[in-house]
Amino acid sequence: MARVYNFSAGPAVLPESVLREAADEMLDYRGTGMSVMEMSHRSSTYQAILDAAEADLRELMGIPDHYKVLFLQGGASQQFAMIPMNLMKNRTADYIITGQWAKKAWQEAKLYGKANAVASSEDKNFSYIPDCSDLSISPDADYVYICENNTIYGTKFHTLPNTKGKDLVADVSSCFLSEPVDVSRYAMLYGGVQKNIGPAGVVIAIIREDLITEDVLPGTPTMLRYKTHADHGSMYNTPPAYGIYICGKVFQWLKAQGGLAAMESRNQEKAKILYDFLDGSDLFHGTVVPKDRSLMNVPFVTGDREMDAKFVKEAADRGLVNLKGHRTVGGMRASIYNAMPIEGVAALVTFMEQFERENR
Ligand SMILES: *Cc1c(COP(=O)(O)O)cnc(C)c1O
Repeated sequence: MARVYNFSAGPAVLPESVLREAADEMLDYRGTGMSVMEMSHRSSTYQAILDAAEADLRELMGIPDHYKVLFLQGGASQQFAMIPMNLMKNRTADYIITGQWAKKAWQEAKLYGKANAVASSEDKNFSYIPDCSDLSISPDADYVYICENNTIYGTKFHTLPNTKGKDLVADVSSCFLSEPVDVSRYAMLYGGVQKNIGPAGVVIAIIREDLITEDVLPGTPTMLRYKTHADHGSMYNTPPAYGIYICGKVFQWLKAQGGLAAMESRNQEKAKILYDFLDGSDLFHGTVVPKDRSLMNVPFVTGDREMDAKFVKEAADRGLVNLKGHRTVGGMRASIYNAMPIEGVAALVTFMEQFERENR
């Protein structure tokens, strides 16, 4: 068996120990004689898995008691509609457009009310985070929306926007659990887990309790109301049971690694290896304004499409896979999530040095 270094943006690398544990429990979960995949979600065994996952997530992130943790489905993209349906009471919200995911969320919100783009970095192909210290926030905005880490472009809000007292809603799909976070600064944060936590099919939403009400836009389906899921402990219907079980194992793994502060310093160390190399290279260049660089997604180019393609192919031949950049940026992108070991980043840089020597 040969494991590769997988730099995919998502679904993405998971901790090997988590995969091994899941494999060990595949046929018989702790003496039940069945896989978690085959288990009733109403069983006490499964309830214990869900409860432990939520408790561990609360501990890792320090989630205050007046926030609900919901395990949902439909991908991060379904939240683009659920957020306005549930939170746009005045039918007004402000969106900061820092990439395709923010733009899609903004366009979806326009189906439900007045969604204002109050800042954007589209003028420079989303290669930076706009100054959000003094935006013209709408007086009647129900919330201000950001995509905190822009998976495609490799930018991150290192400072949250000044929302002038309005509730902040953040898509954290690709930076979830990558560093400590002050949950109380958000009204809601959410993400698809397939970037930095677990298998595709689970969305985790952390929402301040007072925002979860019956006062939703008319016609909001039962399944798309946060209250439905909050009132039933994420078990109104069958949850993505196996996916949540794997997320729970990743939470345990994160705790064993020393929690989010330890992850942050490891992530900084990993990203520094790659960014330092890019800053010194004559062949490869990062595409993002340095102060807005993401620790998770690192896009880079040679400036020559054929050279980029050659690099991606030769890297894959060496077990460094999924380095092709998003079509809107071109070049390469290395996603170096929590589960990417430092050895993987070092191996990538070693190969980049070799490739640069050979292709000068
Ligand atoms: C991948 C991604 C999405 C879309 O997630 P789906 O689960 O495929 O809907 C949304 N936002 C961000 C930041 C992402 O990285």
